[in-house]
Amino acid sequence: MKKNFYLIPELNRMSQEEIRRYQEKKLTRQLSYCYNASEFYRQKFDGIGAKPEDIRTMEDLRKLPIFMVKDDERKSAEDSLKQQGHPFGLHLCAPVEDLYLTGTTSGTTGTPTFSYTFTEKDINFVGRHLGHRLSLAGIGKGDRVVFFFALGIYATTMTLWGLRHLGALPIDIDARAGTDLLLQFIELTRPTYLACTPSLAEFLVQKAPKVLNKSVGEFGLKGLLTTGEVGIALPEIKNRLENAYGCRAWDYWSPCGNCMGISCDSDEYYGLHAVSPDVCTSYDDLVDPITKEPVDSDVDGAVGEMVITSLEREAAPAIKYAYGDVVEISTGQCPACGFKGKRARLIGRADDMLIVKGVNVYPVAVKDIVCGFGPAVTGEMRVVLSEPPPRVVPPLRLKIEHGKSIGRSELPDLEKRIVTALHDKIKIRPEIEFVEPGTLPKETRKTPIFEKQYEQT
Ligand SMILES: [Zn+2]
Repeated sequence: MKKNFYLIPELNRMSQEEIRRYQEKKLTRQLSYCYNASEFYRQKFDGIGAKPEDIRTMEDLRKLPIFMVKDDERKSAEDSLKQQGHPFGLHLCAPVEDLYLTGTTSGTTGTPTFSYTFTEKDINFVGRHLGHRLSLAGIGKGDRVVFFFALGIYATTMTLWGLRHLGALPIDIDARAGTDLLLQFIELTRPTYLACTPSLAEFLVQKAPKVLNKSVGEFGLKGLLTTGEVGIALPEIKNRLENAYGCRAWDYWSPCGNCMGISCDSDEYYGLHAVSPDVCTSYDDLVDPITKEPVDSDVDGAVGEMVITSLEREAAPAIKYAYGDVVEISTGQCPACGFKGKRARLIGRADDMLIVKGVNVYPVAVKDIVCGFGPAVTGEMRVVLSEPPPRVVPPLRLKIEHGKSIGRSELPDLEKRIVTALHDKIKIRPEIEFVEPGTLPKETRKTPIFEKQYEQT
């Protein structure tokens, strides 16, 4: 990774403290703008008796309550549709005629929200940051980047915008086209990078020989870009993908054009590096996923749900938006690349969190430990829930695919070792059911972590 971690040259010369002051200056300006531009935000501030100009520091921001969760955003969108005839929400801060680009996520849960809504100034600002972030993975002029996501109407467009700033050619294929067609497009367009979910990248490893009669390693990719799932934060998955594709796998994310982060060029995974502190304050504002009480994010190892507050947006700035991503923060300098800012390791969604006998359990943490038993396990597993989360009456039930090389007689011992590891590391004693390798359905989008028996009839 090259050393200009930040897009803005002056940030590259600043200490972390100076970067925070820089953020705080932008913060007050953004909050005042939102207060004046939107009735929604005005009511939020007035409701707690605060004025935007009272919020001068990161500490002040952390003390504000959560203004929005996903359901509030959905409600705001319904209200604006009824009252103003557009779906962009009452929290929209720009005149609707000034909108330049909009996009949504897949809407698999509930009505889609247009969280990716930008003015021209927004998309130029966000796009340049997104592009810079991908340049840290080596993308530059002349690269061809195949994008394959099921994000309905163009949530990915903002990233394509960023790639164009780098002089790279984005090739955007809707995931609904199916993996056969995707592989044919890869064969035809000869990309240098592939961007998709880690689940899909794994699926293609098996599929490519059948469809193209070649392995994914023969694509000759310079890099694999994965997002949307915990994926390569798990060493097993990172190694498997890097070996199969014969290149570095990079983890990147930027929900709604905020929280921009990217992993670095290293065999070990050191988290998403917060390379755009001038875009939002998400890495510095965490809350407990259940109580929404503040968690001190300046402490190494802090775990909490990220709260997004944008610092330079016109159309749909997020202010104190608990978006649902739970992370573990590292504050020390990255051992691989020397990055001095914060790094975050995604450990799950707030609504995935389970409470087993008063202990918070993230399914990804369970998977991480189970994956460590490869090749005795394949890495595919499900947490079986008979009641809706988060509370689980113990024991927590796991369905785990054992590896091909394991005989039936070896399973009791394997079970004992996995249970001991889970108890030592995260204080749970699960009940394990082993299933044959390849029996848990693989998804091309996001592989589910739960088997929700309460939803089955
Ligand atoms: Zn690094």
